[in-house]
Amino acid sequence: YFRSLEEAGIRLNGPQISAVRHGRGPLLTLAGAGCGKTTVLAARAGYLMEVSGVHAGSILLVTFTNKAAAEMKDRIAALPGIRPAAARAVQTRTFHSFALTLLRHYGVQEEIFGESRAQHTVIKMLLRQYGMSEAFQPESLLAMLSAWKMQGSQTTDLPEKSQEERDAKRILLGYENWKKERNKIDFDDILLRAAELLRDPAVLGPLQRRFQYIMVDEFQDTNHLQYEIVQKLASAHRNLMVVGDDDQTIYTFNGARQESILEFDKVYPGARIVTLDINYRSDARILGLGSELVAKNKRRRDKRLRAAGHRGDAPRFATPSNAEEEAAWVVNQICEQIEEGLHTYRDIAILHRTASSSRAVFEQLVLKDIPFVQHGASPVFYDQSLIRPLMDHMRLSLDPRSADALPSALGPLYVSRDAGLDWIQRSEQQQAKKYPLIHLAKWDKLKPFQQEQVKERIKLIKSLHKLKPVIAIQEMRRQFYDKYMESGDPSIFTHYRETMLETLDEFEAAAKKFETVEEFIQFADELSRRHREMESLRRAQDSDAVQLMTIHRAKGLEFPCVYWIGASEGIVPHSSSLRQDLPEDQKAALSVQQTDSELDMALEEERRLAYVAITRAKQFLYVTSPASHHGKPADVSRFLLEAFGMEVPDKRKSSEGNRTENSRSYGKNQGQSYRSGSRNEDRDVLHRRPIHSNGYDERRHREDELHPRNERLGSGEVRNHKAFSTAGVK
Ligand code: ATP
Ligand code: MG
Repeated sequence: YFRSLEEAGIRLNGPQISAVRHGRGPLLTLAGAGCGKTTVLAARAGYLMEVSGVHAGSILLVTFTNKAAAEMKDRIAALPGIRPAAARAVQTRTFHSFALTLLRHYGVQEEIFGESRAQHTVIKMLLRQYGMSEAFQPESLLAMLSAWKMQGSQTTDLPEKSQEERDAKRILLGYENWKKERNKIDFDDILLRAAELLRDPAVLGPLQRRFQYIMVDEFQDTNHLQYEIVQKLASAHRNLMVVGDDDQTIYTFNGARQESILEFDKVYPGARIVTLDINYRSDARILGLGSELVAKNKRRRDKRLRAAGHRGDAPRFATPSNAEEEAAWVVNQICEQIEEGLHTYRDIAILHRTASSSRAVFEQLVLKDIPFVQHGASPVFYDQSLIRPLMDHMRLSLDPRSADALPSALGPLYVSRDAGLDWIQRSEQQQAKKYPLIHLAKWDKLKPFQQEQVKERIKLIKSLHKLKPVIAIQEMRRQFYDKYMESGDPSIFTHYRETMLETLDEFEAAAKKFETVEEFIQFADELSRRHREMESLRRAQDSDAVQLMTIHRAKGLEFPCVYWIGASEGIVPHSSSLRQDLPEDQKAALSVQQTDSELDMALEEERRLAYVAITRAKQFLYVTSPASHHGKPADVSRFLLEAFGMEVPDKRKSSEGNRTENSRSYGKNQGQSYRSGSRNEDRDVLHRRPIHSNGYDERRHREDELHPRNERLGSGEVRNHKAFSTAGVK
């Protein structure tokens, strides 16, 4: 078998072979990124069928995403000697698809209610019904519910200690009811219901007999429910093989527990453990960077990885002054690479941290007509649910009759959508088209307080088009969101508030480029139009296109060339994990009570995320750290400093004053605080094309940036910070 594998171009190493040949009983394959874990899973499926004579249909292989499942099927089909029918018969599934098949088999008929927009709409409707529109954002409620269910808990058991918790629970119970009445289940229900079914021996028994061999990829990210499902299935025969990397647990916010992999041999005493330590993916210098970094984590099993010796290039850096410059630089660089014939588009991935941090690069790609696919298919930034209504207010301001924009302006007015549409129709019939909102204010179905609100809203809308777009946005933020931001018990919603704030900040940052509301709206409309044209690319599976995705989505994947953008403090590590860096007095002033150990855990997860980003690259890795984020200075990500063996300034101890928000980064003594460690002194200068260092005063530039008027001073150039002109040669 192994000889024929070799003939097919797959030459496994010793430990890989021993994992593939593993017979019955539990097996943990633990290895760092790119060491061939997924490769081994596929090869073992082949081995079981070819050599051990195991029936294809009794192998269950669970992966993390649909994409991974499809790739796994292809890999198995490509193995020597495997008949296509056998490859098809192997059950390669995601947890969800496995669970859904199970539900259907047992006659669960409910329709899947999976579209997040539709879910939002239901929550919004309930919020309005209960008069709580200003108290919660649908996103946060849904995310909270999901995290709760993934622990295996029922909605009826949600906590109700504070008023906010009680309110949230009321809405979420309403949501469950709404689904029940309409015979629908959402994605989380699928797992929850499947786990419930498996508690019935009459269901579990036949499944255990059918699936004699169970294998799970990316085991480090299984959550409580998924783990329970795996354990149940394997409990009779214990033929369970899991592969994973504790350094790549990046879904704890979704209930993933690193312990599931760290304690595998406790749950399965006598389990065999095979570790793999040769990385076949990345250039040694790229791997070195990742390894150095992740070694800083305390909660992990120590691993020493060796690179198999594939040659690429040393990692490179740039510190553009903000996200716009960063995007322009990345896209230019890509154009050059393509021109030089160095890569095709599909070789290139751009990885980013959060949805909103891809906004600038997305725009550049669209405007420069570069084919790209955005995985996770979030809409154009300006069309997403939080931003769209604000854009529509500005659209209405330009054109009071815009029928498209009108409904979303009604949203925050507690007028139900149906009533609103009814009114729009009537107003059309009555030819009150000239200024429909004024007409609305006189509508007899409105209660007096609503009429007041409509009047206020008209005043606001009328004023917007005269303002600079960024000011218009600030004004709307103040009126619509500030109340929400201040309300309630923050402890449960921190993360979601953070995301919301971030999206709004990014919105302001985007608007800064424009002088008038009109220009801004035109730009956004043009962007949407071009993006729609490009949508067909996404559908064509094999299209040659740059891959734009979050780091989370990139897990398990590899690309010849990776751009990791936004490697700055506050982005990665994300601001929500950085509170421990504040001086004690500021920390105390925060309303959010998180313990230091929770924050340490959060920081370790961020570090793992950085590790995942770095280790996706095979030959080329570019990392960019914008020197400002949403108009505020931002340091280079501490993870880069760590990866290069440089000292990370300890802000907790720092008492050298002026560490206020605005001077937190690149102060005047910046050169000293980032002095490089001895190991780095003889590193090469890595920039193939030095990205500009024109003696420009960094500090002044950053101050300028705070004042948009002077922005052109720095535009179009990406400067290269001295401390980072040398990088990661090991
Ligand atoms: P991740 O942790 O990122 O999921 P992984 O451990 O699953 O990584 P794979 O994706 O299986 O790693 O393998 C990484 C790369 O190394 C792939 O391109 C694979 O084809 C290659 N590879 C794996 N094993 C070998 C080997 N023995 N010889 C040559 N190449 C190999
Ligand atoms: Mg893998």
